[in-house]
Amino acid sequence: MEHKSLGRSGLQVSVVGLGCNNFGRRCDREQTAAVVHKALELGVTFFDTADIYGPRGLSEEYLGAALQGHRREAIIATKFVGPMGEGSLWGGASRRYIFEAVGASLRRLGTDYIDLYQIHFPDIRTPVEETLRALDDLVRQGKVRYIGCSNFAGWQVVEAQWTARNQHLSPLVSAQNLYNLLDRRIERELVPACNAYGLSVLPYFPLASGFLSGKYRSGQALPEGTRLAEAGPMAERVLTEENFGTLAKLEAFAESRGRSVLDLAIGWLASQPYVACVIAGATKPEQVEQNVRAAEWKLTSDELAEVDAITRPDQSGR
Ligand code: NAP
Repeated sequence: MEHKSLGRSGLQVSVVGLGCNNFGRRCDREQTAAVVHKALELGVTFFDTADIYGPRGLSEEYLGAALQGHRREAIIATKFVGPMGEGSLWGGASRRYIFEAVGASLRRLGTDYIDLYQIHFPDIRTPVEETLRALDDLVRQGKVRYIGCSNFAGWQVVEAQWTARNQHLSPLVSAQNLYNLLDRRIERELVPACNAYGLSVLPYFPLASGFLSGKYRSGQALPEGTRLAEAGPMAERVLTEENFGTLAKLEAFAESRGRSVLDLAIGWLASQPYVACVIAGATKPEQVEQNVRAAEWKLTSDELAEVDAITRPDQSGR
């Protein structure tokens, strides 16, 4: 397993990580343990969860339980901001709420430190200096090792890094945003901001919720028990004719090199220098095996150019 530095920090993370938003929802405690233990066995060190994954923080709870006895092999990334209760005091990025949220996450995870504590979404009601100062206090207390952001725009990354620099606070080391072969919008502003200000990108929905595994076929019944078979806004957004058209081209490209489109989806992300870790979600141990293997494909510059010709944002208007 290849490792990369997380932003401008000394932390080395496995290039394939495990997204944990299925835990407590589509995976019970036993299934979670099976997936997490397979990941550890294959050398995955990076586990990404959030307080709001699963009802009442169940993803953190199941992940923490699965990592008992393995804490030193694992890098735990979690997040705060999303609503964890009724009313305006149970969410956001205020100093008051952050101190509440970190205690609750540590309890559910069964650990006394979080490796990467991420601001899940920008909180426009809270000055970024207040958030960064509270997070810096947690770093100094040892409850948190590094901090990151998620769903920030490029300018919000710049604002945060300038604030951290001017106030001598811990800087952000990572930006977690939607990024995959079907949606390359972050390349316009966020990626250049991350490159200039020392953040790694942690792409979420790397497989477009499983679509880029190739298991959904145009005009055929959706495979039972899969995420996109559950009707909802995600399935409507992803299962479009346009996406099936792009998928067919990506499949042809991958197959001409003896690879699968899943290999391409993960290998392409892992080949980007600004991507530290591809946090693919999984519901079964076999999926983790396939996802780890996929990152072995390091695309050449010619191959990257061919993928650009299929998916380049300035051609598709995305
Ligand atoms: P994803 O990685 O694009 O898709 C994961 C789904 O793809 C799995 O649940 C599984 O679905 C399917 N899958 C995975 N490996 C497969 C394989 N080898 N073959 C066939 N199907 C496979 O989406 P994601 O899990 O939602 O995103 C990754 C992580 O990013 C999350 O777990 C979470 O940690 C994070 N995230 C963050 C945000 C944010 O706002 N910061 C938002 C979303 C996600 P089945 O259920 O069909 O088995």
